[in-house]
Amino acid sequence: MTYNGGESLSGSSGNIKSENKEIIVVSACLAGRNCRFDKGSHPMQEIMEMVEEGKAILVCPEQLGGLPTPRPPSEIQKGDGDDVLDGKSRIVNVKGQDVTNNFIKGAFESYRIVMESGAKKAILKSRSPACGVGQIYDGSFTGSLKKGNGIASALFIRSGFKVISDEEFQEKGV
Ligand code: SF4
Repeated sequence: MTYNGGESLSGSSGNIKSENKEIIVVSACLAGRNCRFDKGSHPMQEIMEMVEEGKAILVCPEQLGGLPTPRPPSEIQKGDGDDVLDGKSRIVNVKGQDVTNNFIKGAFESYRIVMESGAKKAILKSRSPACGVGQIYDGSFTGSLKKGNGIASALFIRSGFKVISDEEFQEKGV
């Protein structure tokens, strides 16, 4: 299953691979897809152009984990995405519901899509409990941050992918 934001992307990722272009994986919300918890997005012009040119494929790990949109926001409780992958922490939403299994499923489903695409790099949305790179919300739902990666970022990095945040991309490119 590919995050589709209302359009079919699975065919385009297959075509991209066969054309042997360098593929970049991007958080779907950075390409303007309304997949954020509040049904919003974080569109970046450069990323939308990469998608239009067939240079990027989209993933939304939270949607791929079966969570609806809109949905209550979620945060990693202790540590970061690596701790969740190692079974040492969990992810709960602001209503106190445990959504760890959704996030694990979404991270692995995103990973499967990335592997099929042949991509080696990803640009992911900063601070998200799924996509965050380097910094994530601290689990208190107060807007405070802590060091660490979201669960999908952690899985990508463990697997040898180069992962940068949208903020790094804006500063330095890929
Ligand atoms: S940050 Fe990641 S999980 Fe959150 S809405 Fe964007 S693509 Fe989906």
